[in-house]
Amino acid sequence: MKYPKLRELKEAIKALIKGPFTTKYPYEKHIPPESFRGKPQPSQEGCIGCGACAEVCPAEAIELKDIKSVNSAERVLVWHYDECIFCGQCARICTTRNEKIPGVVMSKEFELANTDRKKIRSEKIKHDLFLCSYCANIISTKKHLVYVSEKLQHKTFGNINLTQVLLEKFGLNIEPVKFKQFNQREYLYEILCPKCRRKTLLFDEYGKV
Ligand code: SF4
Ligand code: SF4
Repeated sequence: MKYPKLRELKEAIKALIKGPFTTKYPYEKHIPPESFRGKPQPSQEGCIGCGACAEVCPAEAIELKDIKSVNSAERVLVWHYDECIFCGQCARICTTRNEKIPGVVMSKEFELANTDRKKIRSEKIKHDLFLCSYCANIISTKKHLVYVSEKLQHKTFGNINLTQVLLEKFGLNIEPVKFKQFNQREYLYEILCPKCRRKTLLFDEYGKV
């Protein structure tokens, strides 16, 4: 006769006293442990649309799309749970992770099985974009720039883009000063991408430094 090993015997006695480790799921609701990583849950309110989560996602499960049309420009973020590996990187790296409402958190939800892949997606998170006034290249989302300007406080006024964003937030639509003597410097106080800002600062009306 084979005798049970001590460790197995200990586990058996523990299970007899405390009950089994397994649960009767799906007949009974299963409550996952505290450290369990279920579906990442993004929040429209907490997210600022910076895109850091999409950059770090190892499974490329976060779709980030910038949509520009004549009248609007917006960034759309969607989590594809059918591609997600539940690593938690998006929540760990989220720019607003320490705020009251983070951009994305790992929920305890694990019941994601579905026959239609289109249904295994998060709601769309949408943000308005700020474009360069000169070349219309994307700078970032309005919410992202407002977030950065609030964090920088008085240092915000050292950056023209952030200053304009902050003024707009408070409804102060100050017409940018135009420097007519230099063609490019007309745009000095506009919202510009780094490339156009450089051109504005470095080149004179003849395109020379
Ligand atoms: S949990 Fe991991 S795999 Fe899933 S969306 Fe977040 S970063 Fe990507
Ligand atoms: S705020 Fe967080 S969830 Fe939103 S785009 Fe940035 S990193 Fe992703």
